[in-house]
Amino acid sequence: MAAKEKYAEPTFLECGFGELEHKVINPEICCHCGTCEAFCPRIEQKENRPRLTDYDPLCGLCFAYCPRTFLDMGEIEGKLFGRARAEDEALGISRKTAAAQAKAAAACAQDGGVATALLVHALESGMIDCAVVTGRDEEWRPTARVATTPEEIVSAAGTKYTISNSVFAVKEAMERGFEKIGFVGTPCQIQALRKVQLLEEPYEFGQKKIALLVGLFCMENFDYDLLMEGLVKGRFGLTPKDVARFEIKKGMFRVIDKGGKAHEMKIEETEMYTFKGCGPCFDFTSELADVSVGSVGSPDGWSTVLTRTDIGERLYSSALAAGALQEKAISEKGLALAKRLATNKAKRFLDKSKEMNVSGISR
Ligand SMILES: Cc1cc2nc3c(=O)[nH]c(=O)nc-3n(C[C@H](O)[C@H](O)[C@H](O)COP(=O)(O)OP(=O)(O)OC[C@H]3O[C@@H](n4cnc5c(N)ncnc54)[C@H](O)[C@@H]3O)c2cc1C
Repeated sequence: MAAKEKYAEPTFLECGFGELEHKVINPEICCHCGTCEAFCPRIEQKENRPRLTDYDPLCGLCFAYCPRTFLDMGEIEGKLFGRARAEDEALGISRKTAAAQAKAAAACAQDGGVATALLVHALESGMIDCAVVTGRDEEWRPTARVATTPEEIVSAAGTKYTISNSVFAVKEAMERGFEKIGFVGTPCQIQALRKVQLLEEPYEFGQKKIALLVGLFCMENFDYDLLMEGLVKGRFGLTPKDVARFEIKKGMFRVIDKGGKAHEMKIEETEMYTFKGCGPCFDFTSELADVSVGSVGSPDGWSTVLTRTDIGERLYSSALAAGALQEKAISEKGLALAKRLATNKAKRFLDKSKEMNVSGISR
């Protein structure tokens, strides 16, 4: 009897929306970054999940670009940085690490206002011609938009601790004819856009227009309905409209109401509100960004900054030279804390990826 033919896994070029559904959407490891909808005209969001509107048997862009189908960090780092990450680089490959602060931080800035100041400086210096930022509505629903003026960038300052399909707004930026698009977002969104930019694809649909990626630190993100119903209303008796600011500081998740009162709970107790698709994520510091910004490691009112690429380094130095930012050394204690959290997130990823049966993502 002839030997049973071995089943061959399809290569990513042979995979399409069916495989995306099977591998990412149905097991709920989708991070809702918005990449599949942004780059495939046959996909749209319906009831909070990507849906195919028109089948094309030859198209596999969604599968190729999704950060949850496959992500080979070694390969991407090789292309982006020209080398692999060393074992002691818990924060990813970087050039400079510092604490920084915007000289004129936006009133609603989360920490040092550095993410906003970098984007404004990039716009004013011509490095980018627009920035995709994530603002919010009155009820704290995140709203990604294409900002073309410093005022529009400033109006989106501040952290919205809920999932946003922000990459989708890159489509609008391309459709409006922008040639040098800046983007700020969470590690999963940055992974997706870097994958789009670096994957060797025969198709040309504007990926070269992605000119700057400002990444945020992120331990986890939250589901809008769970957070607002469970925590804001259920636990604190507030409505989203009552909230002036959300923050995570010193192990506490804090909701500050418009009267200035802080309502808080331990971050470990917020697990039930976290977004399920954050499970298979190892990346605390947006390791594939041009420049990363976070709060851990720096004093209140300052941001921790890591420059990673030529573009990130040029932008950060130019913003310092122009007086848009000031910097100081990051303390050893602060750096050690950031490294510890990054290592914890990578460990959590290993456990979660087994539990959620995730394959194809390697760091
Ligand atoms: C979901 C989330 C979780 C985070 N968790 C941590 C953490 O665990 N530890 C840590 O040190 N830092 C974390 N950060 C980063 C931190 O909250 C600040 O964003 C960062 O320190 C930059 O501060 P800033 O004052 O320089 O930014 P700002 O000048 O206030 O600018 C913030 C920028 O973030 C963008 N943004 C806001 N919300 C979102 C969102 N949901 N999706 C995409 N983009 C968004 C806005 O477009 C804005 O441009 C998190 C950020 C997010 C969005």
